[in-house]
This record gives sequence, C-alpha cells and structure tokens, in this order.
Amino acid sequence: MRSQPTLASRPRIAVVGAGFAGLSAARELGREFAVTVLDGSPWFEWLPNIHELLSGVKRPADLRLSHKALMARSGHRFVQATVAAIDAGAGRLVTTGGRSIGFDACIVAVGGVHDTFGVPGADRHAMSFKSVDDCDAIGRRLAQLARRPGRHSVVIVGGGLEGIEALGEILRRFRHSDAFEVSVVEAGARLLPGTARALDAAVRAHCAGQEVRFVTRSRVTSVTPGRVRLDNGETLRSDLTMWTGGSAPSPLLQASGLADGPRTWAPVKASLQSRRFENVFVAGDAAALPRPLGKQAYYAMQMGECAADNVVRALEGRRLRNFSPSRKPMLVAFGDLDTFLVSGRSMVASPALAAAKEAVFQVTMARFDPSFGATAVRRAAARLGRAAEELALPALTVGSGRKRASLPSRRVRAPRETASGPSKKKAAARRPRRRPVGQP
Ligand SMILES: Cc1cc2nc3c(=O)[nH]c(=O)nc-3n(C[C@H](O)[C@H](O)[C@H](O)COP(=O)(O)OP(=O)(O)OC[C@H]3O[C@@H](n4cnc5c(N)ncnc54)[C@H](O)[C@@H]3O)c2cc1C
Repeated sequence: MRSQPTLASRPRIAVVGAGFAGLSAARELGREFAVTVLDGSPWFEWLPNIHELLSGVKRPADLRLSHKALMARSGHRFVQATVAAIDAGAGRLVTTGGRSIGFDACIVAVGGVHDTFGVPGADRHAMSFKSVDDCDAIGRRLAQLARRPGRHSVVIVGGGLEGIEALGEILRRFRHSDAFEVSVVEAGARLLPGTARALDAAVRAHCAGQEVRFVTRSRVTSVTPGRVRLDNGETLRSDLTMWTGGSAPSPLLQASGLADGPRTWAPVKASLQSRRFENVFVAGDAAALPRPLGKQAYYAMQMGECAADNVVRALEGRRLRNFSPSRKPMLVAFGDLDTFLVSGRSMVASPALAAAKEAVFQVTMARFDPSFGATAVRRAAARLGRAAEELALPALTVGSGRKRASLPSRRVRAPRETASGPSKKKAAARRPRRRPVGQP
C-alpha cells in the first residue's frame, strides 16, 4: 500500500492531450498524484459522430464536454495550452505561450493532425473534417448553398470512413431536393478500403438513382476555388470541397524526440512506454505499437487506461503490464439510410444499428461526464432496447472480403424514382418489415 503523500511530495504526472486517450488516462489517476492535464482546446470532442453536424442531427454542444469541468471533478489541474516541446530528460514541458511545467512522468496523447499530403491548394480551398468546428462550418456552408438557386457540386476527398459518413449525412438532409450533386474521390480501388467488399457495394446500392458519383483509383493533384483536379486528367467543378481522412503525426512528437521523423508516430514498447524515454508513455493515435492497431476511439480509450496504470506502476517501481486490446467491431453510419457493423472483412447492415451507434455515444459521454446525464443513459438504454429488438429480426447482410454479398432488401428511394412514381405495392414491399416484440 502506498503511504498517503503530502501535497508537496505527490508524484507529478503530466497528461498532454485530453481526447479519448488522455481523458481516459486522467480518469484512472487518483488524487494521490499531482496530475496536470494540458490541451489546446477547451473541449473534449466526440469525433466519431461529428459527421452528424452536416445534417443538423447534432449541434456542436451535443458533441462537446468542458475539459475544465471534467478535470475539476477529477481533482486534477487543467491547463488550456498547446504543448510545444517535452524535454523528457529534464522532466519538463513547455507550452507555446512559454509556460514551463515539471513532471515525474508524462502521458502523451495528442492524436494526429489534419493532413492534405502536400496537395497544392488543399489547405486553403478544401474544408477540413477533423473537429466539431470544421463540420459545423461545412453544415452551414451546405445550408447556404442549398438556399441558392441551381444545383451545386460537392466534392468529398476520401472515400474512407469519414467521407462515407459525410456523404450519408448529405443524403439524409438533401436527397429529396435537387440542390446537390456529390463526387467522392478515393485513391483506393474501392470505397472504405480495408473493410468488407460488401460495404462498398451496399453504399453504391443506396446511392443508385442519386446525384452521387464515385471516382476510385484517383488522387487529387490540386484544389483551386471551384475546381478539383485529379491525376487521371479530369477536373471536377466544386462549390464545396471537403477533405476527409488524412491524419499525420503531431509535430510535437518529433520536436520532443519521441519520433524520428516528421511523418512518424511515436514508437512505444508493448507497455506503451516510449522507446526513447522511460518517463514518457504514449497513448491513442499518436502511438506506434509494436503490432499496428487501427486508429480508433475505442482503442485510444483502452490505451489511455493502460498508460495510466503503467505510469503508476513505473512510479512505484513495479513491473509494467503489456497493452492487450480487446477488439471490437466498428459502426459506420450512412445517414438515415443504413448503418454497418464492420468487423474485419465481415459486415452486417441494418438501419436499426444507428440506435446502437447513438447508444455508444450517449453511454460513453455519460461515463466521461456523469452530469451528461442520467437522462442520457435512460435514453440510450431505450435506444439500445429498440436496436436489440430490431436486430433480433434482421433484414441483414453479411459479407466477406471475397464474396459479393446479397444487398439489403431496403433500397434508397431516390427523388427521381419517387417523382416517376413506383407503384404503391412496390414501395410497400421495399419498406423494412417489423414484427411485434417477442414474436419469433
Ligand atoms: C471525423 C472522424 C470520425 C471518426 N470516426 C470514428 C469512429 O466512428 N469510430 C472510431 O472508433 N474512431 C473514429 N475516429 C477516430 C478517433 O476519433 C480517434 O482514433 C481518436 O480520437 C483518437 O484518440 P486520441 O486521444 O489519440 O486523439 P484525439 O481524440 O484526437 O485527442 C487528441 C487531443 O490532444 C490535443 N492536442 C493535440 N496536440 C496538442 C498539443 N501539442 N498540446 C496540447 N494538446 C494537444 C487535441 O486538442 C485533442 O484534444 C474518427 C476520427 C475522425 C477525425
């Protein structure tokens, strides 16, 4: 058992970055440590749902928690500042404002930064898709364009998770109007590279009849106001270009000697201890694990908890434990048209899964901030109940990487199709069938 240290003798732990990993680490650390949490932003932001700001289903306040309030509740000190460099040898970090803070151990959880791969014009003329402010701005720009007469062109650069979720929200909000035509440009051979082939097919099926075009195996070579040029020689007209995906290591990693180059994540041992400095642990997206792992919020939270545990062990001279992730499937939302549960190269599709994604959001936010609400937890439980109810009666699709799966029986009802009027009988046949609870 640790003897109760006095205020002055409490070991000092600095947590740099309070996103999924940093916040999870801070929550694990007790008041027997003098914990200082630093983040350049006043908010913790729930990134996996920021696409919903495009449709207005969520507002910025729904996706944010105040760092100051969260840390006050944990009894930790919060400093709103960007860390410019960490001098592990001296046990000291310095902020961009010149403030210097000492530590005995440090957890680095700074995530990644927006990356446009040096494509000329992309930083200036493509809207970034990496924060609540970014997506709120895109949502407002879409609304502004929709108020103007004519059809407007949107180019989504990146057909990965973020790009497809963004497309889903645009369809949720505008598919019954003629306001937009959307192009999705993806460098890979198919959408959502690295996931089930059936997912690509399912997204395309939902977009059949919509003003949506997928341009795969193509890279953007430059972005100018109103134009996006591709390496296949094509030029796309664009009233709104958004740059999704693309995350690079924070410059802090190299500046602090935690990584070797500007495009290198910080190498860590299996315990998440830095390979360069014993008093530094790296968690979340910033860490380059001995066995690579997807950069996902769920893993970042697990890493944060493990890093905090190992910092305590290191300070107490105990043996460190290895980080062992428990793998989870990923939920990919496609507006109100569908939600996909993706596990490796298999997937299940059902609009009912949207409730599960929402429940994960509500429950985890409430875990971070109990005042987020008992109400939120009740709402989440009710949603989970509904999801479970519908999942028991699946109109589901399971696919593997090799096999082309049968597509969901639900189809997107495109505006044009509605206008030309499919028969009522056909339309009724397309509606997902629901059975009362309890019926087999
Ligand atoms: C649009 C989008 C959608 C996503 N969807 C999903 C999804 O559906 N499911 C999923 O599992 N994952 C998803 N992810 C990935 C997931 O959000 C990340 O894996 C997760 O945020 C990583 O957590 P982290 O703590 O490492 O970094 P972050 O959550 O990015 O937190 C890093 C924190 O560090 C702070 N910071 C950075 N640099 C400094 C500095 N120098 N000084 C002080 N503070 C600093 C930042 O302000 C931030 O608060 C998505 C990501 C994006 C961008």
